[in-house]
Amino acid sequence: MPEYAPCPNCDCEDATRVGWTWWGGALGPALLTHVKCEECGTQYNGKTGKSNTTGIVIYTVAIIGVVIVLGAIFGGQ
Ligand SMILES: [Zn+2]
Repeated sequence: MPEYAPCPNCDCEDATRVGWTWWGGALGPALLTHVKCEECGTQYNGKTGKSNTTGIVIYTVAIIGVVIVLGAIFGGQ
């Protein structure tokens, strides 16, 4: 039983966890089970075996939303 779903690009099951990304820091890839294929370098969701693009967009929008809300709460005095 492999640890992660096979790569959507080449079907390789040898994937490693991505520890840090420019879009999500350390938290984003942890939340999205972001892994990288050792065979072709494709990064995808290790739980579903699909691209993480939608998750990345939702995550980024959520982070921006939180920053705006916190800015309104703490910045508007
Ligand atoms: Zn691959």
